[in-house]
Amino acid sequence: MRKAFICPTKYVQGEDEILNLGYFVRTFGTSALLIAHPDDVKRVKEKLEKTAEKFDVTFVESHFNGECTRQETVRLSNLAVEKGCSCTIGLGGGKAIDTAKCVAQGENLIIVPTIAATDAPTSHSAVLYTPDGGFDDYAYFKQSPSVILIDTTVIANAPVRFLVAGMGDALSTYFEARANVQSCTKVNAGLPCGVREGTCPEARGTKAAFAMAELCYENLLSDGIKAKIACENHVVTPALETIIETNILLSGIGFESGGLAAAHAIHDGLTILEGTHRYYHGEKVAFGTLAQLALENAPEEEMQEVLEFCSAVGLPVCLEDIGVENVTDEELRQVAEKSCIPEESIYAMPFPVTVESVMAAIKTADSMGRNHTRKASFNACREGGKGLNL
Ligand SMILES: [Zn+2]
Repeated sequence: MRKAFICPTKYVQGEDEILNLGYFVRTFGTSALLIAHPDDVKRVKEKLEKTAEKFDVTFVESHFNGECTRQETVRLSNLAVEKGCSCTIGLGGGKAIDTAKCVAQGENLIIVPTIAATDAPTSHSAVLYTPDGGFDDYAYFKQSPSVILIDTTVIANAPVRFLVAGMGDALSTYFEARANVQSCTKVNAGLPCGVREGTCPEARGTKAAFAMAELCYENLLSDGIKAKIACENHVVTPALETIIETNILLSGIGFESGGLAAAHAIHDGLTILEGTHRYYHGEKVAFGTLAQLALENAPEEEMQEVLEFCSAVGLPVCLEDIGVENVTDEELRQVAEKSCIPEESIYAMPFPVTVESVMAAIKTADSMGRNHTRKASFNACREGGKGLNL
């Protein structure tokens, strides 16, 4: 059986690690095109100046316009050629990172995430948008990033909601990889064709990727709450370090080499509801995970464990938590239909999936989440009332 494992070449995280960025630029040459939002550059300016001086490298400012579009990618690629840049740096959140991937085209790429909100930094794909902000296309590159460099001090000082959203994205990884293992789905895109005529050009996930997906879930349960508290206090602790690695490295490889399934497909479906637009990818994926568990009729204890984790760290557990207060059956059907389009990852589930079964799963997850919240607040009231003379 053909199996494959896709990953970045180097992954480095540490306190003030941006001070070593110049070292990694040096492995390619002496100058790098820096693609970053001006606000993100401002946050790390001092460290950039220090590392540029220490390693004698130049960061070429790109005046990135904030959107990952074809036009912006072409402009920046031309700039890189004009300035003779030897590598590309994507520093910041998703848009800067995706744009850097498009400019680098799979070569000499350093990714410096300043938030841990998704597992996208490690992947070899990007999302392109139209100039007016609509979805354009997915782009896949011949190689994953050369270096992922994470300054944990910067992550500790970013808003905590990003870290929690990253935990939501990481929460689905194990359950989606598990579905792929159960259904023997081929998960790796972007590989050369099968060696024998007529064989499938794709491959199944490796045990290594599945082990990483399992560790991803274990880490969330053991260190998620502690990491959130560390981030609220802007300090780097072992728990925060574990969760940064979990959100970015383990979840990234876990999904890219382990496969996506219903949780992300239901996330994609939910995006048609206007109310969800104010919520981050990982927040919606957390609810998508609960819906996947309902869809596959996961054991009650497992669903409760996930629900409790979400409530404890502040991830959504019901539709209301992701901005959907009143939803009609017709709207839910549209969500389920979008989750079930032929190219969706939902067909990695190890059983036939229908629009009706997805609608039922979303309704069930929503009710379970609302009941859980109600019970939790009832218990909190009871606890709070204990010492009072009522
Ligand atoms: Zn995701």
